[in-house]
Amino acid sequence: MAAGVVVVGGGQAGFQTASSLRAEGYDGPIRLIGEEPQAPYQRPPLSKAFVLGKQDPSRLLLRPESFYKDHDIQLLTGERAISIDRSGGWVGLASGQQFAYDALVLALGARNRTLSIPGAGLDGVCYLRTLAEAAALKGRLESARDVVVIGGGFIGLEIAASARTLGKTVTVLEAFPRLMARVVAPVVSEYFRAAHAARGVEVTLSALVQEIRGTDTVKEVILASGSAVPADMVVVGIGVLPNVELASEAGLAVAGVPPHGISVDEFLRTNDERIFAIGDCAEYHNVFAGQRVRLESVQNAVDQATCVARTIAGKPAPYHSAPWFWSDQFDIRLQMVGLPAGHDRLVVRGSVEDGKFSVFYFNGDRLCAVDSVNRPADHLAARKMIAAGISPTPDQAADESINLKTL
Ligand code: FAD
Repeated sequence: MAAGVVVVGGGQAGFQTASSLRAEGYDGPIRLIGEEPQAPYQRPPLSKAFVLGKQDPSRLLLRPESFYKDHDIQLLTGERAISIDRSGGWVGLASGQQFAYDALVLALGARNRTLSIPGAGLDGVCYLRTLAEAAALKGRLESARDVVVIGGGFIGLEIAASARTLGKTVTVLEAFPRLMARVVAPVVSEYFRAAHAARGVEVTLSALVQEIRGTDTVKEVILASGSAVPADMVVVGIGVLPNVELASEAGLAVAGVPPHGISVDEFLRTNDERIFAIGDCAEYHNVFAGQRVRLESVQNAVDQATCVARTIAGKPAPYHSAPWFWSDQFDIRLQMVGLPAGHDRLVVRGSVEDGKFSVFYFNGDRLCAVDSVNRPADHLAARKMIAAGISPTPDQAADESINLKTL
C-alpha cells in the first residue's frame, strides 16, 4: 500500500496542499500535521477583524473540521514534527509517532523575530503570529490605554490601525526613516505615515528602541534619543524568521537572502526529489523578479500549494504565479502585485492627495510591480498585465484617460 503524502505545517499552505491534492484526484493517504491546537485557519484577520472583535475564532477556520473527514485527510493537530529520515522515507513527531511518505511537503511557515533589548521579557510585550497570540493581544488591548507598536511594517501598522480604531493612544516606532521601507516606494510610505497621523497615530521614524522599562509589567519604551514613550502594552512587529530547522537538520539545502529559506527549484522541490517546500519557509527563483526570493503572503502560500499538489498528482507544471498581496489599515486598502526589485522608474496614476492612486514600478521598459491605494480596478488590471508580461509605457500608466484593461 502507498505511504501517501505527509504535509508538515497546518497553516495556509499546508491546508491548501491537502485540499488541492484531493481536488486534483489524488487518492492515496494524506496526513496533515500541525503543531497548533486548531485546524488550519486564516492569519490575515488576526490583526484586523479579530482584534476588533468583529470576527469570531470559529469563522477563522479555513474549513470546518468535517471537511477533513469528508475528504479522507488525516488531520493531526497539536503535533510537532521533529525529524525527517530521508533514506527511510518517514517523519518523526515529538509524540513518538512516525509516518512514512512517498512525498513530503514542508509548509512550516515562519515565527516572529523577537526583540533582544532590556525589558523585552516584561509582561505586556506582545507578538502576533498565531491565534493564541492574537487572543492574548486582544485581551490585553481591552484594558490598555497607551499602546506602543515597535515596527512600522504591515503587521505593526495593521495593529496600530486596529488599536487606534478601538480608541487607544497609539505610537508606532519605526527604525527606518520611512514606513514599510523594505517593500514600497517613498510616496506610498509617506502617504501611510500621513494617513496614520491624520487618524491620531503618533508615528516616530528613525526611532531606535533601546529599552522597555517597567516593574513586572511594561510602563514605558526608551529610545536612543533619550525620550520615553508611555506604554501599557507593547506590540512587537519586527519581521519573521522562516522555520527551516527541520529541513536543515535533515540535510536539505537552505539559502537565499538572510533569513534563509528552504531552497526549492521551479517545481518547488528541495534537493531531495521526494520533498517539497512551500509558503513562508521556502525560497525560490521568481521569474517576475528575476531573482531568488522568499515571500510571505496568502497568494504565495495558496498558489505554491496548488502547484505542488498538481505535481504530486502527476500533472507537473513549473511555478510561475505573479505575486500579489494586500494590507488593510483603517479604511485604506493597499494592494500590490509583482516585485519592485531592480526598478529604475516610478509613475503615479491617480491622486495621492485624494488617497486614490497607484504606483507603477518600471525596470527599463518592463512593468515589474504596481502598488494600488484604494484603486482596486488598477490592481486587477495590473495583475493581468504583469501575469501576461504586458507593459504599458510610463506615459500610458500615468494617463487616466487610458483604460488599462484594454492594453
Ligand atoms: P503559516 O500559515 O504560518 O503555517 C505554518 C504552520 O506550520 C504553523 O501553524 C506552524 O505552527 C506549523 N509548523 C511549523 N513547524 C512545524 C513542525 N515542525 N511540525 C508541525 N507544525 C509545524 N498575507 C497576506 O497576503 N495579506 C494579509 O493581509 C496578511 N495579513 C497577515 C496578518 C497577520 C497577523 C499575519 C501573522 C500574517 C498575515 N499575512 C498576510 C501573511 C500570511 O498569513 C502568511 O504568508 C501565510 O499564512 C503563510 O502560510 P504558510 O502556510 O507558509 O505559513
